[in-house]
Amino acid sequence: MKFNLHSAIPLTLFRKLSFGKVKSWYCGLVKRTPPIPPYSHIIQAGDPTLRVVSEHIPINLVQSPEVKFLMQRLKTAFCRYDCVGLSACQIGIPLRVIIVEFNKNHSKNYSSDEIKHREIELLPQTIVINPELKVLDYTKIIHSEGCESVRGFIADVSRYRKVEIKGLNENGEQISLNANGWLARIFQHELDHLNGKLYTDIMDRKTFSCSCWQVVNERGGKVELPFSP
Ligand SMILES: [Zn+2]
Repeated sequence: MKFNLHSAIPLTLFRKLSFGKVKSWYCGLVKRTPPIPPYSHIIQAGDPTLRVVSEHIPINLVQSPEVKFLMQRLKTAFCRYDCVGLSACQIGIPLRVIIVEFNKNHSKNYSSDEIKHREIELLPQTIVINPELKVLDYTKIIHSEGCESVRGFIADVSRYRKVEIKGLNENGEQISLNANGWLARIFQHELDHLNGKLYTDIMDRKTFSCSCWQVVNERGGKVELPFSP
């Protein structure tokens, strides 16, 4: 379907609108077939899929075309949104798969003091199918964290200091790793997703903040929250 921009919008109004706003307005008018999961976008709080307890993947299906396609979509969304952790339910498929990575670029967002304080360590991209988490150190550590499915907000969350993760890799082989500090936090966050939980369920509610509240003030409220990069 095609529209003639100038004939459809009064000229005076058209002059006041930016191209982006005109495009967004027309996109809202055109009825499009909604995408089906696994999505290439990340779903947002309120989507019932985020509250479902995800199902195990039978080992004989780990290398099936359907699961391989899911892995591909998960990796694409993970890279597109530059995540440090993502679960399959966040792209609309409630199966027990997570992906975690913490690389040098991610660590550039933190000062050397923060890296030490948060016990940040690097981890290459790691997919875990049917992950099981065991707490190795029950010391609770409080730090601020966010979630791609609660975009635009952060809050303080208490997490265990050290965990062990066991599960299968993409080839269906058993893997096991220990995660400390920040990585332990990421794994606990992703495991919560597989059990239908969000960090907002366990956060310190008084610390719940818009991640760009200062920018909102600096720009007189003229800030838009993007849901895709
Ligand atoms: Zn999350």
